[in-house]
Amino acid sequence: MLPEHSEHTLLTPGPTPLHPHAQHALTRPMLGHMDPDVFALNREIQADLRTMYGATPDTFTALLAGTGSLGMEAGFANLVEPGDTVVVCANGSFGARMAEMAERYGAHVRTVTAPLGEPIDPEQVAAHLDGARMVAVVHGETSTGVLNPVPAIARLARESGALLTVDAVTTAGMEPFHAEAWGVDYAYTGAQKCLSAPPGVAPVMISDRAFDRFHARRERTPLWYCDFDGLRDYWERQSYHHTVPVNLHFALHAALRAALDEGLTTRRDRVRHLSGAIQATLAPLGFTPFVRDPAARLPTVLALRLPDGLDDAGVRRALRERHISITGGLGPTAGLIWRLGLMGEAARPAPYRTLMTALEDLLG
Ligand code: PLP
Repeated sequence: MLPEHSEHTLLTPGPTPLHPHAQHALTRPMLGHMDPDVFALNREIQADLRTMYGATPDTFTALLAGTGSLGMEAGFANLVEPGDTVVVCANGSFGARMAEMAERYGAHVRTVTAPLGEPIDPEQVAAHLDGARMVAVVHGETSTGVLNPVPAIARLARESGALLTVDAVTTAGMEPFHAEAWGVDYAYTGAQKCLSAPPGVAPVMISDRAFDRFHARRERTPLWYCDFDGLRDYWERQSYHHTVPVNLHFALHAALRAALDEGLTTRRDRVRHLSGAIQATLAPLGFTPFVRDPAARLPTVLALRLPDGLDDAGVRRALRERHISITGGLGPTAGLIWRLGLMGEAARPAPYRTLMTALEDLLG
């Protein structure tokens, strides 16, 4: 049995607190996945996703029935064939996950790395592009709080003729994302991040160029569940492919509408403003930004270097006893940093006031 806590301050880098409209949408009675009302709702989701991704009005968008990692896997499964050269920007755990997936689908992977806490250098990407069929990059690297320079990497990919896959898991819906202007061919996120919907659906965007590559495959994709044509069967031709999680569509639709009603630039400003205030408040306690270059700091996941001597696990345990969840480092940053989630409904002053009061009490 889960304990009954009406209030929990969830400030992790995902999942984020549900938007109230998403929470309410979960109570709607079930409808069939082939119901005309669900198809109408799906069309609205597709239109709103085009806006969120900054895509053209005829770009294909959809929800995959899984989390952000399924979005990642579907891109490689459909767009990579054995023997293809794929350049993967891997300056953190999620870039490394991309490299592993691309390899599992038979790619020759060339990784471009950067020192811990630093962004990818586009010149390094340029040096690896010869013969590459795809470039893959994580926009906001959650494990280190780094914002990678996607527009510059996109320009290089476009010039070389390679497709560009972008992991927009910590950015789309909160940070500027301009798929059309940048030339992004495949992008994905997870519902539970910047949109504050429940985990379980992955909003994706697939360009015409990506579809052309997909249709020119020598062999069909080994991943039947997310075959791009299978997705089109359901989302455009309204024919059965698999049973979509209808309730999660209800909730995602509500959360996405709320995000667009608020406005993407308002959301961007909201997170930046709050991130600055948190940094200023925590500086006297000895916390400093982990990412040195301010332009490379991911606003939606604030990575803070811990003060010397701080009992990382002990303090986080004491916070958890007060029903406040934050996250430590991941992999090589474990014990070195905290990662504060500023996506969607987490980026609100009230829950951060709760955290600051608790920290001043525990550390002050
Ligand atoms: N990519 C990034 C940048 C992420 O932060 C995450 C999860 O935190 C993922 C991919 C994987 O998403 P999920 O855990 O929803 O499968």
